[in-house]
Amino acid sequence: MAIDDRLVMTGMRQEDEELENSLRPRHLREYIGQEKVKNSLQIYISAALKRHDALDHILLYGPPGLGKTTLACIVAAEMGQNIRVTSGPAIERPGDLASILTNLNQGDILFIDEIHRLSRAVEEVLYPAMEDYALDIMIGKGPTARSMRLDLPKFTLVGATTRAGRLSAPLRDRFGIVFRLEMYTPEELSKIVARSAGILGMPFDEGGIMEIARRSRGTPRIANRLLKRVRDFAQVRADGRITAEVARDSLNMQDVDNLGLDRVDRAVLSAMIEKFGGGPVGLDTLAAVTGEDAVTIEDVYEPYLMQLGFIMRTPRGRVCTPAAYEHLGKTPPTEQPGSGDAGVEQTQLF
Ligand code: ADP
Repeated sequence: MAIDDRLVMTGMRQEDEELENSLRPRHLREYIGQEKVKNSLQIYISAALKRHDALDHILLYGPPGLGKTTLACIVAAEMGQNIRVTSGPAIERPGDLASILTNLNQGDILFIDEIHRLSRAVEEVLYPAMEDYALDIMIGKGPTARSMRLDLPKFTLVGATTRAGRLSAPLRDRFGIVFRLEMYTPEELSKIVARSAGILGMPFDEGGIMEIARRSRGTPRIANRLLKRVRDFAQVRADGRITAEVARDSLNMQDVDNLGLDRVDRAVLSAMIEKFGGGPVGLDTLAAVTGEDAVTIEDVYEPYLMQLGFIMRTPRGRVCTPAAYEHLGKTPPTEQPGSGDAGVEQTQLF
């Protein structure tokens, strides 16, 4: 199955765009969960507003679909400022960034998604912009070339990344505020689904909402996507109301199991168990046998499988836990796979 066909994919799909815009919370009070982030942000925003100053630059990191873009838009709304949205891969040359920066107004929020994908040359333009609100431009060529400094308006950069580890140290150090977004609990997701169902005018039972929440892999984007699919099913096969039974039947039919795993997740776990005795398996080997690329496995599948406690990372590779065996209806081996070897290596390492 191609990655884009997956219902539980965490990345943005075209059909999501319209839905997301209508469901995106606009203010901090509507943003559900991430309490620590919200509380800190509220304080920083109030302080900046009191000082009539721009906010410090903010780095948001965490798996896709957890609400980084939403939070950036909320920061702009709460500060009463405009937001300019772009992404790392979209800014190809230093000149592209220079033109974005010179078009900003005082206090504007500049949101750069996938900021770890900026090229080194573009990053270098960003350093003085973040630190001194200045743009260094070269005039002329060869021996007569000289650099000229242009002042920029005081803006706030909000950077988002799925991988904080991929960011270069000089870039990371220039963010005054760094927040890590966590996966949502089923209770938080159920509030998000109920809010979305309300906005979309869908009748629902608590049980139906909870069933969707439990299968959403801790991710609001998936929760909203599953809700939309269940709505279609409810309208065609039932009287339109989202009940526990309707949600369960609809999601089972679409191969999303009671924990939100789909066919591909189960294929990853089955390969680990059946072909490698539960592991340890290297990431590249796992990619080869499942036909997915290593980055996708690391960014899309693993965070949730690790969150569920189905996969563990050891120095020698990924290992399946007994919980994963049980979920697939298989009997776990008496000794934890790989535990002996991994243990030896750990002792040697430390
Ligand atoms: P990211 O930028 O991290 O990939 P988004 O900000 O685009 O994620 O969030 C995806 C969708 O999930 C949003 O359109 C919004 O509807 C929903 N969402 C995300 N976080 C929340 C939240 N805390 N409360 C309510 N809805 C949320």
